[in-house]
Amino acid sequence: MEPRSLTLCSRYFFGSRAIDKLAQFCREIRVQEKNAVLVCDGTTWKVAAERISVSLSASGFRVDRVIVEKGAVRSEVEKARERIRLLSPCIVFGIGGGVSMDIGKASAFLEKACWITVPTSFATDAMTGINATFRGERRGVDDKAHEGDYDIRVGPPLACVVDTDIVRNAPWKFQAAGYADYLAKLCATHDWGLAYSRGKDQTYSEYAIMLARAQVEYLMKNASRIRKDERAFEGFLQVMMNDGFLTEMAGNSRILFGSEHVVAQGLMEEQMRANVAGLHGEQVGLGTILMAYLQGQDWMAVKTALEQIGAPVTAEQIGLGDESVIRALTRARAINESWLRDRPDIYTIVMEKPLTRELAKGIAKGTGVIR
Ligand SMILES: [Zn+2]
Repeated sequence: MEPRSLTLCSRYFFGSRAIDKLAQFCREIRVQEKNAVLVCDGTTWKVAAERISVSLSASGFRVDRVIVEKGAVRSEVEKARERIRLLSPCIVFGIGGGVSMDIGKASAFLEKACWITVPTSFATDAMTGINATFRGERRGVDDKAHEGDYDIRVGPPLACVVDTDIVRNAPWKFQAAGYADYLAKLCATHDWGLAYSRGKDQTYSEYAIMLARAQVEYLMKNASRIRKDERAFEGFLQVMMNDGFLTEMAGNSRILFGSEHVVAQGLMEEQMRANVAGLHGEQVGLGTILMAYLQGQDWMAVKTALEQIGAPVTAEQIGLGDESVIRALTRARAINESWLRDRPDIYTIVMEKPLTRELAKGIAKGTGVIR
C-alpha cells in the first residue's frame, strides 16, 4: 500500500444552543483571526447566522456576511471570495444547508482561509465532507467546463458546529432526505466492490465499507426511533457527521455514491422537466430502493426504513408519473457513461445489467415505486 496522508475534521462543537457559545469555542480552539465572513442564505440568516453574528461581534470579531441567492454556482463563490479578500485574514463560516456550506468551503479554500461549517439541517452530509459540489456550468469554480454536477476537493473544515436545537426544529423533510442519502451507501459499497473486482477502481477499503454498512444498519434498525427519541436522534446526527472521516478512510468518494445516485440524477432531471422541486436525498432514497432490488439486496428493508423516517418511497410522492421513473431507469446507463468520462472509477451495476424498458418497468413495479 502506498503511504497516504489523511486529513480529518478534528473539532466538533455539538449540542443544545451551541451557536450562542461559538465565540467561546473559537477561543478554545485558538482561532487567531479577528474577522469573520458568514456565508448563509436568507433563511439560514434568520435561523442561525444572525445569532452567530451577534455572538461573534460581542466578543470583538469584525463580521461581514454573504447571502447566497443563486445556488451552488461560480458567481456565488466569486461574491464570497471578494468579501473574504476584503476582510482577510478571516475565518469563514458556512451556515445552512449543503449549498451555503459548500460555497463557504470552496471560497475559503480558494482564498487560503480556514472555514467552519454550521449545518442548520441535515439534508446532506456536507458539514464534514472534503468535497464541495457545484452545478454544471461552462466555466465552473475550477475554471473548467462541466456538463453536470461536479465536485472540487477542499479538505475538511477546521471545525463543525452543530446546534442540535436548530437542527431539530428544521422542517423534518430535510432530515428525512439526509437520512435517505445516507442509505445510498448500501448500494454504493456494492457497486464499489463490483468496480474493484472488474479492475475499474484501484482503491478499496474493507474498513470503510464495514463502517459504512454498520452505520447504515444502525440507521435502518432505528428508523422509527430517530424522530422521537433523543438518543437515537443524536446517533443519527453523529453518523451523518462522520462522513468526512469515512470518505478519508475509504480514500475515495466512491463510498458515497453508486448506481443509486445515477438513478437519482435521472429522477432529478425528470423533476426539472416536470417543474417540480425535489430534494437530493429524496431522489436518492428512491434510487436506493430501485438499485437494491437490481443488486439483489434487501430493498424491502430500505423501503420500510424510509417509510418509518418519513421519506418518500413512491414516484407520486416526489411529483413524478410512472413514465418518468421508467425513463430515468432506462437512461441510467447513459448517465453512468457520462460520469465515467470524468471519473472512470464510478463503474456501477447499470453498466453490466442493461435496463431495458421491460426490466425498468419490472423493477419500478416490483418495488412499488410505481403502480
Ligand atoms: Zn448524495
